[in-house]
Amino acid sequence: MNSTTVIGLGPMGRAIAATLVRAGHQVTVWNRTAGRAGGLVGVTIAPTPDAAVAAGDLVLLSLTDYGAMYDVLGSTGLSRKVLVNLGSGTPDESRAAAAWARERDAGFLTGGIMVPPPLVGQAGAYAFYSGPSDLFREHEPTLRAIGDTRYLGADPGLAQLLYQAHLDVFLTALAGLLHGTALVTSAGVPAEDFLPDAMRLLTDLPAMVGDGADLAAELAAGEYPGDLSTVRMMGATAVHIAETSVAAGVDAAVPNAVRSLYDRAVAAGLATRDWTALYDIVRNPS
Ligand code: NDP
Repeated sequence: MNSTTVIGLGPMGRAIAATLVRAGHQVTVWNRTAGRAGGLVGVTIAPTPDAAVAAGDLVLLSLTDYGAMYDVLGSTGLSRKVLVNLGSGTPDESRAAAAWARERDAGFLTGGIMVPPPLVGQAGAYAFYSGPSDLFREHEPTLRAIGDTRYLGADPGLAQLLYQAHLDVFLTALAGLLHGTALVTSAGVPAEDFLPDAMRLLTDLPAMVGDGADLAAELAAGEYPGDLSTVRMMGATAVHIAETSVAAGVDAAVPNAVRSLYDRAVAAGLATRDWTALYDIVRNPS
């Protein structure tokens, strides 16, 4: 039976541990704050990080950030262990962590889980991984219990980059949802009169702007034909959103950031091109 250690029992670590137990793994857990393993059936609770690491061939880290990894494992023997850090960080932090692990004779893979805790181990769950391919291949059968695995290559920063790119889209959309809600409620319109249609707008995006493949092709071609939704038209709306926010007494930081992209696109002579021309602007920060 595979023995796997899970360090960090926030909602995600608990979901991972429970999923691995269900998949037949022998699971040892450790968490800084005692008691977080309550309700987890079939796991062994290690008294210390040393004991937790010693118990697992594979050590999965589900911590808030990379700083937590050093806090937990800084003085723990890691020789011949394989760490998979499933926490959020920057690509450079993942690369530095891989080097840190190498200095301690440990293997290191970066992981980024792309579903929330209740969906871990369910159909449709997936996660990005990067790091040495032999390590990934060896441990893929265990990692597959969490969700489908998408291996990106040897660079330990790549899985983190893909994770952050997805979260970029996600967090920006979530901020937009709350911002739009604040706008309508400022005029006494109930959130429930707004949010269902706003949600539908998100699911209808492919019908409005093309699916991912269409968009990828347009961005790769760099032509931005300007036959549907121009920078000028969308930029005017971006100004209106920012001004409406200020008038409503709602925070205008997000709309102003979007507006500035359009302003710069207009200044760069892209006014009559499609809104996708903003791609040139975000790739070249001023
Ligand atoms: P939480 O931040 O809720 O919990 C993470 C764990 O980190 C806790 O067990 C906490 O311990 C521990 N921790 C934080 N700082 C330290 C430290 N300095 N020393 C020791 N332990 C520390 O995160 P989640 O469980 O929600 O997520 C874990 C990771 O998974 C995150 O990086 C997140 O980005 C990623 N993820 C989360 C998703 C989600 O929807 N939750 C979805 C996809 C990925 P303690 O209990 O003692 O505070």
